[in-house]
Amino acid sequence: MTDKVTVLDIGIHNITMTEAVNRAENFIAKKVPHLIATANAEMVMMAQTDSELATILNTADLVVPDGAGVVWAARHHGYTMPERVAGYDLVQRLLAEAAVKGYRIYMFGSAPGIVEQAKQAAEQKYQGVQIVGTRNGYFTAQDEPAIIEHIKASKPDILLAALGVPKQEKWLHKNLAALNIPLAIGVGGSFDVMAGNVKRAPLWMQHANIEWLYRLLSQPQRIIRMSALPRFMLKVIAAKKG
Ligand code: UDP
Repeated sequence: MTDKVTVLDIGIHNITMTEAVNRAENFIAKKVPHLIATANAEMVMMAQTDSELATILNTADLVVPDGAGVVWAARHHGYTMPERVAGYDLVQRLLAEAAVKGYRIYMFGSAPGIVEQAKQAAEQKYQGVQIVGTRNGYFTAQDEPAIIEHIKASKPDILLAALGVPKQEKWLHKNLAALNIPLAIGVGGSFDVMAGNVKRAPLWMQHANIEWLYRLLSQPQRIIRMSALPRFMLKVIAAKKG
């Protein structure tokens, strides 16, 4: 199986959830900084006009196929991509491993109050998990040195950053070496879901590859952002013909 598939010039790893968890654990074992990104159609479309984001994605240690759109695109190009690896699900799998193996977690991002609620929910669900620090995702440039110091002092193995795309990828890329954390992941709206603030689609919709439809119906204000999906599909079709 090809390790990486290129969709509109962005490399996406062709792996299963279990393989993604294994790679993440290898990154932790190596004890040097690694970055995981979770690619969906919106992110790939953003990277078409944001070369900094494109470079970050193409140099990240792992880019998982987070959205049904990227899995479709890979298959459209003739690759046998096994499954979607949703960022939210990857985070849940890593929290479950962390509870068993003692990985230390730092949760950075989302609105004040939400990140603490997400921490409490994780501690209830994954008994024994060590969430060693939290910081909400609203800050100024002046706050950044203190945030970095707090994260470093907490000595996490995994930094979950929920600042939205592309802010989280750019922030992590810029600060990864200074933070010296084995594994950093941009996790978008995951803390909102963990806190119970936003609901994920029912499983049948996830399995039918229409989680995007649920998101659109439950958060209609996202319509402009979500127009990236049909534009992405048209661009992929045009790229194959061209
Ligand atoms: N967010 C943040 N700081 C910011 C902007 C956004 O912490 O400056 C948070 C926001 O509160 C939300 C998350 O980032 O929890 C973005 O969620 P979204 O569902 O938009 O994620 P995406 O679709 O970008 O992955």
